[in-house]
Amino acid sequence: MGTIRDVRVDAVPGIVVQRWRSTEDGLFLRARGQPDEVRLVCVCGRSHWIVRERFGDGTASLLVTCHTCGTRGSFLMEGVTLPTP
Ligand SMILES: [Zn+2]
Repeated sequence: MGTIRDVRVDAVPGIVVQRWRSTEDGLFLRARGQPDEVRLVCVCGRSHWIVRERFGDGTASLLVTCHTCGTRGSFLMEGVTLPTP
């Protein structure tokens, strides 16, 4: 394991998420064009999120809500298998 790289939720507009995983240490995102996973950190400094995937119009989104302060973010996802209708 290398050093964890933290990114703030309000500092990463437009990233495209390819994979995500939620762990005891927080929510980790693998974004397009990034060599390593990053940990998503809230403006309140915490990194635990309620995560929801939303599918529609041929696109997939990752919606996150901070467990602690309720700050929200959303990211496009790619490479995700859409559920069959
Ligand atoms: Zn927060």
